[in-house]
Amino acid sequence: MSYERVTFLGLGLIASSMFWAMRRAGMRAHVTGYARSEQTRATAREIGLCDTVCDDLASAVREADLVVLCLPVGAMGAVMAEAAAHIKPGATVTDVGSVKRAVIEAVAPHIAPGVHFVPGHPLAGTEHSGPTAGFAELFDNRWCLLTPNGADADAVAQLSQYWQALGAKVEEMDPDHHDLVLAVTSHAPHLIAYTMVGVADDLHRVTNSEVINFSATGFRDFTRIAASDPTMWRDVFLTNKDATLEILGRFTEELFALQRAIRTGDGEMLHDYFKRTRAIRRGIIDAGQDTDAPDFGRKKS
Ligand code: NAP
Repeated sequence: MSYERVTFLGLGLIASSMFWAMRRAGMRAHVTGYARSEQTRATAREIGLCDTVCDDLASAVREADLVVLCLPVGAMGAVMAEAAAHIKPGATVTDVGSVKRAVIEAVAPHIAPGVHFVPGHPLAGTEHSGPTAGFAELFDNRWCLLTPNGADADAVAQLSQYWQALGAKVEEMDPDHHDLVLAVTSHAPHLIAYTMVGVADDLHRVTNSEVINFSATGFRDFTRIAASDPTMWRDVFLTNKDATLEILGRFTEELFALQRAIRTGDGEMLHDYFKRTRAIRRGIIDAGQDTDAPDFGRKKS
């Protein structure tokens, strides 16, 4: 069964992509949107994002069968504290946050009896943000992980169907395991990209214009990742602290091992290491999660 009324709290990249994907899928649900700033609400109205854009939180959620928190992770608890009393029994609340344990701890205490809370995370995004950044294809063939944490099975099944209609593949996962997996596949790599771009910026022997003009493929990919939204990523690191620090610890050990191999001229170690990592890249392509075109991603942007 599909939802009749869907409300997005927060109207940025993810909410706008979900809205356009719903329209592409021909869903008839009435969609309501709410954002804290007048400017975002005005932009949403101008571009036809949502059927109704509300100026207040309570009216935005009152009729909803599905409420989707599309906010930075650190803002979800406070917004739900204000919205919870206005959500009707039987409705489902979900979120799209990149961290799951912290969201459950911040949001679940506010959920009223009779309202279902099914946390989620679509593994799809870009470095762009705001209401005009969204596009209908964002979730196509991407995973959406649900971390139901004991939520009602029918509510989970309905949300799973909804995400599949938006183009995603859905899997359920334990929230702590989600946070560890994402620390490896997304959070630590983002921090490394931020660091590498910061290093290039600090390294005065290489001028800024050289960095910009001669940026080779590796560095260019880092700059794209390091252009991601500062608020979102600040919240990700502050709320997925333990898993990120664990992975960064392991990363540092591996980096020292590689550093030693370079210093001692251990070509065999380097070659074996790179052979192993190349196989991981092959696996990602075989799983349909990227393309092996040499300039992947760049022609579109
Ligand atoms: P976005 O484009 O930056 O939009 C964020 C929205 O949240 C805006 O409408 C903003 O309102 C609102 N907001 C920001 N701070 C707020 C606060 N303190 N209180 C109330 N509202 C606030 O963000 P997004 O990329 O859609 O990300 C939303 C969520 O999706 C995040 O939790 C993120 O972890 C998750 N996610 C992101 C990606 C990605 O690649 N971007 C991928 C997967 C999941 P105003 O416009 O009015 O300021």
